[in-house]
Amino acid sequence: MAITLLVILGLAFGSFVNAFVWRIHEKKPWVNARSMCPNCQHELKAIDLIPILSWLWLRGVCRYCHKKISLQYPIVEASVTILFLLSYILWPSMLRGTEIIIFALWIFIITGLVALALYDLRYMILPTKLIYSLLGVAIIMSALIVFSSGIYLVSFLNLALGSIIGGGIFYVIYLISRGKWIGGGDVRLGFLLGLLAASPGRSLLVIYVASIIGAAVSLALISLKRLKRSSLIPFGPFLISALFIVQFYGQHIMHWYRGLFL
Ligand SMILES: [Zn+2]
Repeated sequence: MAITLLVILGLAFGSFVNAFVWRIHEKKPWVNARSMCPNCQHELKAIDLIPILSWLWLRGVCRYCHKKISLQYPIVEASVTILFLLSYILWPSMLRGTEIIIFALWIFIITGLVALALYDLRYMILPTKLIYSLLGVAIIMSALIVFSSGIYLVSFLNLALGSIIGGGIFYVIYLISRGKWIGGGDVRLGFLLGLLAASPGRSLLVIYVASIIGAAVSLALISLKRLKRSSLIPFGPFLISALFIVQFYGQHIMHWYRGLFL
């Protein structure tokens, strides 16, 4: 039951992310009842908007102008759905009471983070308004986590330090490089992801994992000649992917890492 609901929600929210990223870039209202083809601007009917299935059915081309619809659409829809399902399956405690509200807020945050990653990937910038909106939701979620933890001070300090470390490290890098290596958006994202990582250790782990993924992906792209050594690649998508990896498998990574040395 919950799984079916999450699959439907995941596909719907994923489809929303695709339209949303384009809307904020075009400075259109965030939410709009009508969807259109980004190429021919033809209004799309409900049958064209079924996540993944419409794309497969139309064999990846627009029904009206026959131009290719980017693979981005089904990939984003599938990613949001998978993240919803993993969150549910790997959720550390019983989903009842306040925990349900925390889970619901987390679902919104996943959607927003995927939108941020997609935006950064497409336009090489992290929209400030979206980061602050997510920060607002994350603060409400964190407050609920503190209140339901029973150990208020420890829980609060963990969240606050996680955020300060996440944002602080990027702020220092930003200052040292005078904004050349990373942008102000990465600093704001650092505070948000640090808060979501919920402890200083996990916050550091997010940055560490992001650097490894970033280096691996860059090397792979350079060796495939898809990227020049000098080209800039956005760091946001790596940080956001790293946060999800740490949320879901942080415990395992830390355990494995300790095992390497002890
Ligand atoms: Zn079209």
